[in-house]
Amino acid sequence: MAVYGKHVVAQYDMPHDAEIVRHGLTEKKTLAEAAREIPVIREVDVVVVGGGPGGCAAAVTAARNGAKTVLLERYGHLGGMATGGLVNIIPNLADIEGKQWIGGFCQEVIDRCAARGAATYPKKENWGKPDPKDVERYAEAAMAHFYLRQNAKDERIVLYSAVIDPEVAKDELNIMVEEAGAELLLHTWVVAPIVEGDTVRGVIVENKAGRQALLAKVVIDSTGDGDLLMNLPVETIDYMRPGSRIAQFGFIHWICNVDLEKYDAFRKAEPQRFAEINREIMAGGGSPFFSRSVLDNQTGVVWVFNLIGSLHQTEPEEMTYIDRTARHKAVVGWELLKKLMPGFENSMIMLSCPQLGTSGGRRVVGEYYLTEEDLDRTEPFEDTIAVFADNDRGDASVTHTHVFVPYRALLPKNLEGFLVACRAFSADHEFSEFFNLIPHCMCFGQAAGAAAAIAVKKGLRLRDVPYAELKELLLKGGAILPD
Ligand SMILES: Cc1cc2nc3c(=O)[nH]c(=O)nc-3n(C[C@H](O)[C@H](O)[C@H](O)COP(=O)(O)OP(=O)(O)OC[C@H]3O[C@@H](n4cnc5c(N)ncnc54)[C@H](O)[C@@H]3O)c2cc1C
Repeated sequence: MAVYGKHVVAQYDMPHDAEIVRHGLTEKKTLAEAAREIPVIREVDVVVVGGGPGGCAAAVTAARNGAKTVLLERYGHLGGMATGGLVNIIPNLADIEGKQWIGGFCQEVIDRCAARGAATYPKKENWGKPDPKDVERYAEAAMAHFYLRQNAKDERIVLYSAVIDPEVAKDELNIMVEEAGAELLLHTWVVAPIVEGDTVRGVIVENKAGRQALLAKVVIDSTGDGDLLMNLPVETIDYMRPGSRIAQFGFIHWICNVDLEKYDAFRKAEPQRFAEINREIMAGGGSPFFSRSVLDNQTGVVWVFNLIGSLHQTEPEEMTYIDRTARHKAVVGWELLKKLMPGFENSMIMLSCPQLGTSGGRRVVGEYYLTEEDLDRTEPFEDTIAVFADNDRGDASVTHTHVFVPYRALLPKNLEGFLVACRAFSADHEFSEFFNLIPHCMCFGQAAGAAAAIAVKKGLRLRDVPYAELKELLLKGGAILPD
């Protein structure tokens, strides 16, 4: 079993032990829904479900490569966890030696945000280097987990990770989808796939216009949680190791108007009183820990990552419990900071995450099931669609710099017309623990969009898409792949 780096466990390992009260009926009772006619509102090549990192990449790539594409999203904005989850840090784009592995759609989003002054990352010449200024900056901001690692020479080096401004990113993703020629339908929940035999033919949605259908040659599930998998004849798995990174919900909120100079002066001048206040805040049910925003325009803004362990991340009662208790903790914590901590007197909560942070959920068992053993693999697969920097596995990462993902990890077994391009990709707990982050899901999306476009254009089954053509499209889209 892989071990998450010790700095990560220290930050993430906070499983809740509360028993969730379940209000459901104890006896098993079902109801037969009456059959009914519903309007078919679109007939297209590709439907992408969910506009998070995976879904945006999939829709943009499919449309850019000629497929008539519709992107469906339940909320009023794109970006998923990267915007609405206030998890706007895109880490591990290069390995510990400074070699970039993730380019393509992900790099384009960062570049387009940066062109609007809405992204920040270390200078390229510092990636993989012990630049003292950057090391100090990210350590001081409590962002070491995303930006700093120990290399083989025991130097503390700087990683290539980027932070984007979620509001600008939402706008930029809308623009990218529109420019690519994909149609976007927001405020639309996808509730079920339409299946004929072993082939997915479209989806059923519900929104303010009622219940409707969209037909498609390819459906891509980018819901994060693999919502469509529930109603498909595929094997899924949702095992999570208690206390691991993915076995958590995250409720993130941002506090503004913080006088960090005053806070630092107090912290240094009166360390004992500072420690006492921290203890008081924790005893009162809050958390005194935060990261400092590294975005240029966010002076005096701190980010609070409230993480709560959970093994049931798609259960509404659990989600309700977590949202309610985490929100209470956030407000109580801020009230205590404001009352007790010098520097927070004039602060306010500027924003809490509109999307509850979810890392786990269902995962598909696909044509290839990535496991712990693949973490140490040194040779690419014959159908490699992405290479990821291996920076988070503590000592193992010091010598093993990157891992590979095959196209088959997006293809469910025995099902046609359907791809999974989100954190529900085909992998066991150990592989997901390290490689289901925003940049990874963007790579899955880019590959799924490209494969769907090829399949539609050539009239092929998704599993028959020639790898050479897929690779060519991915390279054309800026992906970085082995020779
Ligand atoms: C607390 C926490 C901190 C994290 N920190 C980081 C970090 O710093 N950096 C990082 O890279 N990763 C981080 N992650 C992980 C990362 O956010 C996710 O793994 C990643 O966002 C997954 O992308 P996705 O596209 O699969 O899903 P999501 O980002 O969840 O996007 C799914 C999209 O689909 C939509 N959707 C869902 N269901 C439906 C439906 N039925 N119908 C229509 N639309 C639907 C959602 O609204 C959403 O827009 C963190 C996760 C958590 C919980």
